[in-house]
Amino acid sequence: MEIKSKFLFKGRLKLNTAMHIGGGKVNLTHTDSPIVRTVTGIPYIPGSSFKGVFRSTVEKIVAVIPYLSTCQLIEDNTNCPSANQKNFIDEKNKKKWNEKSLANELEKCLCDTCKLFGSPFTASKIIFNDLTVCEWAGVTRIQDGVVIDRDSERAVDKLKYDFEVIDAYSVFDFNILLENPTQKDIFLACTGLNEFLSGFGYIGGFKSRGLGNCQIHELKVYTLDLQDENTKIEKLKKYLSGSKLEEKMDVISDAEKFVKEQINLFLSNIEKGVQNC
Ligand SMILES: [Zn+2]
Repeated sequence: MEIKSKFLFKGRLKLNTAMHIGGGKVNLTHTDSPIVRTVTGIPYIPGSSFKGVFRSTVEKIVAVIPYLSTCQLIEDNTNCPSANQKNFIDEKNKKKWNEKSLANELEKCLCDTCKLFGSPFTASKIIFNDLTVCEWAGVTRIQDGVVIDRDSERAVDKLKYDFEVIDAYSVFDFNILLENPTQKDIFLACTGLNEFLSGFGYIGGFKSRGLGNCQIHELKVYTLDLQDENTKIEKLKKYLSGSKLEEKMDVISDAEKFVKEQINLFLSNIEKGVQNC
């Protein structure tokens, strides 16, 4: 699909508590569960991990907002093809949909969070890059855990394991790109960002022990809008010839204010809709 508009959210994700994102047991490590590292041995946060927690944060909010839908939390009561993949594929084959009718059906049936974050039938409109560490102690710690019996939920005597964590106050750079969003997509992205701005975000394992609490700082928002014919060429010129982000895209001066405004604007419209029902 051609570019109509882009939003780039950049900032820092700071850990309020230690974090464990497991990278799988590797030979020669001194722990049962090492953290994920780059090939050069530097800890990082995979974009897919951030996307996963960001998506579930947004889903929990969407589930309580009138007129919005998410198939992940309200599975029994959804038409979303992601939750009924087999039915949808059968229907598609039976009715011999061409590309266009398939796209129309997906637009009609996919829930709001699948439209934004992607589904087995559509690509994601929001992309999370891997987060690189920009401030950390340079060393990690090994924490002890006990093995919990899944049935009794009690600790199993003498069975211990350990896992590696990166310390609290480590800081990672993040980049989230949103392409051709609708007003609803922007609202959903902003609700997720605002939860992380408020310090309600968690990432990685052992959440119930308080690990992985994190917070967004120094948020910046860059936009490119090619939808107005009067300014399109001028914006394209800037975008294609600039090299630094600031030269290519428009910078929103107060990013946190922008996030709050987008949320309030969308919710005010929902409020009007509810009152008109
Ligand atoms: Zn869905």
